[in-house]
Amino acid sequence: MIQSQICFACGGEIFIVGTKTRLVKCAACGLGKTLDEIRQNYNSYHRDTVYFDSEKQFKNIFQKRVRLIGKFRKPGTALEIGSSSGLMLSLLKNSGWEVAGIEPSKEACKVSRKRGITTLNKSFENSKFNKETFDLVIMNHVLEHMENPNDILERINGILKKDGMLLVDVPNFESLSAKIWGSNWKYILPQEHKWHFTLKSLSYLLTGTGLKIIYAETHSGVWEYASPAKELFESLTGGKKRFFGEAISAIPNLIVSKLGMGTGLTVLAKK
Ligand SMILES: [Zn+2]
Repeated sequence: MIQSQICFACGGEIFIVGTKTRLVKCAACGLGKTLDEIRQNYNSYHRDTVYFDSEKQFKNIFQKRVRLIGKFRKPGTALEIGSSSGLMLSLLKNSGWEVAGIEPSKEACKVSRKRGITTLNKSFENSKFNKETFDLVIMNHVLEHMENPNDILERINGILKKDGMLLVDVPNFESLSAKIWGSNWKYILPQEHKWHFTLKSLSYLLTGTGLKIIYAETHSGVWEYASPAKELFESLTGGKKRFFGEAISAIPNLIVSKLGMGTGLTVLAKK
């Protein structure tokens, strides 16, 4: 059953997308929601091995985020919520940031600590931080999993210093791939993802919690990487299928990304 017919982000009207995935969507801001009953506890699905196995690829992706952060902010203190194996934080640390992570997975925590990253083994919901502690908070593919994004964003606002920044990465629910695949889109993941964000819905949520978007971009395929050329080269060793897929789709993906319809959405917001 749908408890409310009104979008909690913008107040728009909600409609049902498909019965198969039990998904609803806001007609005004595009926010999607997976209905509760099929979602699982975080412990049954966190994806440690994906990060461990594809570290080279993720390093190239995260390097792009670190570069973006550097365009807006000098190094200071940073917290990553859902920091997994600490790869992104280690890149930030290398560029002068003082970093800490918070990660519910024990395995990932171990790897992160081995890298020399201070990592708390708990969920953000169960943690406490002093007010105005961080210059930067990062949430990489985390917000879509969370029960109550509003509360989370309000708390983040509280722990950010004045002029502090929040970097959010989520799958883009208004991407071309989401439109083409509908309820079969690879990021629907009904057992894991509660929310499906668009730039508009994120913007409503962030503004409502006192944060203001200062930069947004979408990206697909090789354009998700700091170095698309490096990814193309490395995909050659990852099997011909991956290489040809990346190469053939490079130009269409560039156009789609520039139109705001890339599969990934990166948003920087400021307190
Ligand atoms: Zn809405």
